[in-house]
Amino acid sequence: MAEGCIFCRIVAGEIPAVRVAESERALAFRDLHPQAPVHVLVIPRRHVASLAEATDGEELGAVLLLAQEVARREGIAESGYRVVTNTGADGGQTVHHLHLHVLGGRALQWPPG
Ligand code: AMP
Repeated sequence: MAEGCIFCRIVAGEIPAVRVAESERALAFRDLHPQAPVHVLVIPRRHVASLAEATDGEELGAVLLLAQEVARREGIAESGYRVVTNTGADGGQTVHHLHLHVLGGRALQWPPG
């Protein structure tokens, strides 16, 4: 657990979150400020600051597979969805614990801003 990391504190149950799915290595919960009808964050339980720092392929695979599971559970697997991981300053990352945004439930624009 990284000191001061809000997502580590969610993993530890120290701050509340609406959990929608979990696995041994990953956790999914609803984004506090949803940008689409479905907006879920999927994170590794272990602290990894961003995709740029990730080294464990099995862990990354577990996070991606949980994102797939979230899409099924949220009923957007057939209609389609987007998985995004903002990385670093230009990527717009604001929380420095690797997370995938799973967005869906409406037609999404492309390209992003
Ligand atoms: P990013 O800007 O890609 O780092 O995304 C961080 C996301 O975390 C934003 O979409 C926030 O709305 C979301 N967020 C921040 N704090 C919380 C929280 N306590 N619970 C759920 N989502 C959060």
